[in-house]
Amino acid sequence: MEYKHIKRIEDSEHFGTYLQIDLFKIKTCTFNCIHCRAGPTKNQIPQRVFIYPVNKILKEVNDNIERFGKVDYIKYSHRGDPTLYVLFGKLNKEIRAAHPDIKIATCTNCSMVDREDIFNELSKVDLVIAGLDSVLNEEFQKINQPLEKINLEVLLQNLLHFRENYNGRFWVNTVLLKDFNDSDQSISAMKSYLQKLHPDNYLITFEATDTSELISQDFKIKLVKAFVDAPFDVQIGADRP
Ligand code: SF4
Repeated sequence: MEYKHIKRIEDSEHFGTYLQIDLFKIKTCTFNCIHCRAGPTKNQIPQRVFIYPVNKILKEVNDNIERFGKVDYIKYSHRGDPTLYVLFGKLNKEIRAAHPDIKIATCTNCSMVDREDIFNELSKVDLVIAGLDSVLNEEFQKINQPLEKINLEVLLQNLLHFRENYNGRFWVNTVLLKDFNDSDQSISAMKSYLQKLHPDNYLITFEATDTSELISQDFKIKLVKAFVDAPFDVQIGADRP
């Protein structure tokens, strides 16, 4: 079988061996992050979309596991925000029924977590990785280029509400870009917010973009000092989950 929606990745840093699922034909997201590895967002919308039927994806998952063996995780790819796939909950339910011992993980920018359907579907995932690059609006606008209707204050409140009600593993990932979100003020504001959000794990990833160089070794040391007393696990310089 030729796989159109899944890719098997062996021995990764965060997920061991996992199947990565791609849900969209073109990248669909409410953000257009300057660091997005999938390039510019072609379909930047605030609605859920139907692209492929669940069975089409599930068939590939089942075939791969049957042929190559069990995986540790099934994880959604970064090519868009997986929660915008309208059958996200149904697909997870079917995967869970077919493979009850495989964990499901997803990244999301959490901008739609105020919707009851998305809130409930995300709550059933084993590991949610919230992408959060800055809690300061100016930086958020520059880095994430969200749809106009997305308000950072509201997003941060919704995320706290989700976290309070979520029983799975909860990580936060910040992509740190030199001269964008590396100011003392930005780091201290992020730390204060995370103390309320209390993730199980906070991963800081370093990226270079067309407009930003990689941060220096000295800066990494500064980050270690800034988070040394954080009441949650922190991974500085982690691979992007
Ligand atoms: S939220 Fe994720 S998928 Fe969307 S543009 Fe940003 S990095 Fe890409």
